[in-house]
Amino acid sequence: MNNREIAELTGLCIANTYRRFPVAFVRGKGTRLWDADGKEYLDFVSGLAVCNLGHCHPKVVEAIRNQAATLIHTSNLYHIGPQAELAKLLCGNSFADKVFFCNSGAEANEAAIKLVRKYFSLRGEGRFKIISMEKSFHGRTMATMSATGQKKFQAGFEPLLEKFVYVPFNDIGAVGNAVNSDTAAVIVEPIQGEGGVNVPSDNYLKELKSLCRESGILLIFDEVQVGMGRTGTLFAYENYGVSPDVMTLAKGLGGGIAIGAMLATDEVAGAFTPGSHASTFGGNHLATAAGVAAVEATLNEGVLDNCKKAGAELIERLSGLKKDFPFIKEIRGKGLIVGMELTIPVYDIVNKCLERRLLVNCAGETVLRFIPALIVTGKEVDEMVGILRGVLKGV
Ligand SMILES: *Cc1c(COP(=O)(O)O)cnc(C)c1O
Repeated sequence: MNNREIAELTGLCIANTYRRFPVAFVRGKGTRLWDADGKEYLDFVSGLAVCNLGHCHPKVVEAIRNQAATLIHTSNLYHIGPQAELAKLLCGNSFADKVFFCNSGAEANEAAIKLVRKYFSLRGEGRFKIISMEKSFHGRTMATMSATGQKKFQAGFEPLLEKFVYVPFNDIGAVGNAVNSDTAAVIVEPIQGEGGVNVPSDNYLKELKSLCRESGILLIFDEVQVGMGRTGTLFAYENYGVSPDVMTLAKGLGGGIAIGAMLATDEVAGAFTPGSHASTFGGNHLATAAGVAAVEATLNEGVLDNCKKAGAELIERLSGLKKDFPFIKEIRGKGLIVGMELTIPVYDIVNKCLERRLLVNCAGETVLRFIPALIVTGKEVDEMVGILRGVLKGV
């Protein structure tokens, strides 16, 4: 099938939940993709911050191949070697003591929300309220959509789950005002992704942690998008000298395979006991074998250093566009999650980039988001900015 045939078939029998671009990719390698008509693209979307090691990283492919040919799935009724191994890697490189595996970011956040409730329930404290941020994104299930501080994701699905309140991001005073004896936790993305690549001020997360400690409430970091090396450290919180009580991961964790994880300290994780929570597929052999390969490659192949270096180059090159295009308002980000806010809508620009064989995407109406593989080179950054410059000239 070519691009058009795949698009037609999609229109016939796929639920219409996405406004899709008129291409279908059939092959990928590193930062490059090829579509069903044989055209090559430079990828600065990475499957939405999933393929952090580039497409079809050889170690990940090998791990998936070997595991698929050996044992794919047995269920969590039994011990799972690669799952335990992946948990050890994650705990050994983070604040966490225990991991619960699931299959997506939303599920990881569901687990975090349930864990927090169970934790206070066991202590006999009537704390149910979770404080979340405006412009946040935590997923599309009922609970995570309720936790998401953006009306556009909630419209038509009300009534929402109770006991979520929203405060402006990066405003510690607003959180302080929202905390009361009913509050269980604060959930926050260390850097907001879908909400427009919003970076907090240096002390915000530290102050949030202190506030949570003083108030006896828990702190959840949603690192579904910014974890797994995206910001130049394995976890984004490492940039801010502060750790949470609970953290959620997904996107980049499995090198492209569906997986989610909720990590917590022993004290908090202890609220989950046999029967508390479960997932049939969660942490199965195939997904966690891919995860082990992805985490090891991230830690051992200079990926984090490259992310910092290429990220700095990306911000510098994008900033270089500012003087020529007055509709560029701001460039912000950390590592290789970078946003360029314009004073005009960006959807057409994304389309024009696609025509020139460059994939970028939007985070909201007016922010272009750049989330290339963490192995992207300075040369590819230059190539991308060159294409983008050509497109912006036509605006
Ligand atoms: C993508 C994302 C989610 C949801 O992940 P899914 O795998 O789509 O359920 C949750 N939180 C953040 C910060 C995300 O970027």
